[in-house]
Amino acid sequence: MDHAQQHTGQHLLSAVFLSELGAKTVSFHLGADSATIDLALREGAERLSEVELRRVETAANRLIYEDRAVRPGWFSREEAEAMLARGELYKLPERSGRMRVVEMAGVEFNACGGTHVRSTGAIGGLLVRRVEKVKQGWRVEFCCGLRAVRAAGQDFATLGQAAGVLSVGAVDVPARVAALIEEGKAAAKERKALVEELAQAEAVALVGAEAERAVVTAVFAGKDVEFAKRVVAKVAGLGRAAVVGVTSGADGAVAAARRPGSALDAGKALREVLSAAGARGGGSAEIAQGVCRGEQVEALVAQLSQALGG
Ligand SMILES: [Zn+2]
Repeated sequence: MDHAQQHTGQHLLSAVFLSELGAKTVSFHLGADSATIDLALREGAERLSEVELRRVETAANRLIYEDRAVRPGWFSREEAEAMLARGELYKLPERSGRMRVVEMAGVEFNACGGTHVRSTGAIGGLLVRRVEKVKQGWRVEFCCGLRAVRAAGQDFATLGQAAGVLSVGAVDVPARVAALIEEGKAAAKERKALVEELAQAEAVALVGAEAERAVVTAVFAGKDVEFAKRVVAKVAGLGRAAVVGVTSGADGAVAAARRPGSALDAGKALREVLSAAGARGGGSAEIAQGVCRGEQVEALVAQLSQALGG
């Protein structure tokens, strides 16, 4: 029964998309969980609007409660071709012999050997659930009968869970999510600026504390490779070479910058030192970075410092 409802519902929905919007069904899929049709929109139409979708959904449901008869009949190939020529049939399978054509009274004829409910009323109701753009057109997910009731219930439960997590009413979920995304973007921007400031402050402190050494070195815990790269860049900006290691749990990273104007190649030095330790990295002659295990960081910093003349 469930399958016959979804299948007959597919006939109906495809017919209404064609009559209301001139959108042709190019393929369909009836699965255990979802049913979809793929539509090719009429010439010139670029998208399916929400208003159009609801109009089609309403028209399909009207035909459901009008309880139109769904009747299979057998026709000869010639009769079927005449129906195709009159536009009653929208397409015909490529085979000879008698053909089973299902009539949905006043809606369509469809050459189909599938199982159908006896009248549109038994489809029970049709819910258009969502639409997405796919390669071959527009994919419309729908469900019929009890499946539609269950789907609507599940969707509302999901929305309710989201509302609970956000501590807002269901209708306020979209606005709250949009606000959170904006807050997230602003926080990321602020964090980036703070990291930049912190890297500059660390660079100034390191250069001041290691005035005697040719290469400024440091290791920071709980920081990432981006931070290491920023600190060495800032130290280079202050006229010195730098090697900085960072650890974060079991992960590590190192970054190196040559003294501005130096003939040394920081990228080459870093690649050599890291590959000898089974780690990877790269960069330019001025600045380079790579990732390694956290336990390797101290040794790699010392080796890189030597390679850069420290
Ligand atoms: Zn059928």
